[in-house]
Amino acid sequence: MSTAAAPQRPLTHGVVLDLIRAARRISRVELVDASGLTGATITNVVRDLIDEGLVEEAGHAESTGGKRRTLLRLRARARFTVGVQLDRSSCTIVIIDLAGQLVARTAIGGAGYRSPHETLCMVADHVDSLLDSAGVDRHRVLGIGLVSHGPQNLDDGRLLSLSPMPQWHGFPIVADLEQITGLPVLLDNDATAAAIGEFWIGGVDPASTYACIYMASGIGGGVVSGGGVYRGGTSNSVEIGHVSLDINGPECSCGNRGCLEDYAGPPAVIAKAHTVPGLAERLRFTAGETETLTNFARIARAAVAGDADALTLIRDSARYMAHSAISLTSLFDLDAVVLAGQSFATAGSIYVEAMQAELDRAGFARDVHPVRVTLSKSGADAAAIGGAVLVLRSEYTPRDLRRPDGRSLRYGSSRATALPLTAPS
Ligand SMILES: [Zn+2]
Repeated sequence: MSTAAAPQRPLTHGVVLDLIRAARRISRVELVDASGLTGATITNVVRDLIDEGLVEEAGHAESTGGKRRTLLRLRARARFTVGVQLDRSSCTIVIIDLAGQLVARTAIGGAGYRSPHETLCMVADHVDSLLDSAGVDRHRVLGIGLVSHGPQNLDDGRLLSLSPMPQWHGFPIVADLEQITGLPVLLDNDATAAAIGEFWIGGVDPASTYACIYMASGIGGGVVSGGGVYRGGTSNSVEIGHVSLDINGPECSCGNRGCLEDYAGPPAVIAKAHTVPGLAERLRFTAGETETLTNFARIARAAVAGDADALTLIRDSARYMAHSAISLTSLFDLDAVVLAGQSFATAGSIYVEAMQAELDRAGFARDVHPVRVTLSKSGADAAAIGGAVLVLRSEYTPRDLRRPDGRSLRYGSSRATALPLTAPS
């Protein structure tokens, strides 16, 4: 199936597209200033982008004495990207346009106990329906950014985890979804994507160093500094959910002991709720591991409504989370911590309060600068939006760029997102 996937485009074209997107309207002379490229290069790149239908001229700037400068803007509806956040309990699908604006979204159930192929067929059906209902021409879709938990092998597009189910381990989810949809697919970590999504929608100071702690069924993290995403060696970085709080703690599915996730994550909180007499019945828990987010939301709602037992459980979870946030700030000297994902949606304010108090009390650099804890502006959608943004940005980097050691980066992996992000103004 043919798609709008662009021919391999020099990096300069991506830089120029990004600058036009951020400025909304900008002249060629301003592009020269902002990019550091020569006037001749800008002229050629802009001509290419206009020929490709991605950019158009849009009136003139106010005269400053000389000839009035022609302004350029993106043709926002020329291209679209899809973002899919997927785990066992949840799946959010978004469409954004070339200008990075949200066009449509939907939320469906997660993988549950389905096989990988069955799940990806379900996702593909919902992507099709969303594109249809939003009136988006499929030939203008650049690709799908599929984001999920780690560990992942971005080189060959596989999850290396026993979750959602053991048969997902090593399954070629990128190749399978590409085959089902006929669209290019990019895989990335949900927490990294959420950190990028938050930057994109303007939820953080672009100059800051911040961490995004992402909690859905599990807990992950991403760090952005000066607009660049910290990737580590293989994009399996900042896995704060699997940083140990107790070497004598329970054995975790990752092989470590006493991981944050096993104290503060939704399954752990639900397990504790089952030990409180009468609480599971009072909150009308439903059975099954696929009900994790639903049951956790019930505890969160009860906590916010003042149920003492539920409040104790959420505050305990927040205390552990605060402890890990201190570790993150000590490692990365953060200016801010952003909380994103479905599991912060209801009781996020309880987490913010607990984490802010602990960072003010014991953050390592507290006498130098404060660390601000906030809730994500896009909440549950942050990871899916980040996935769509990653595809948009992958337009800038040749798809099969290879590292000096010969390993494929695929598009959208470390090299592509090492470029500083430029948020829309
Ligand atoms: Zn672990």
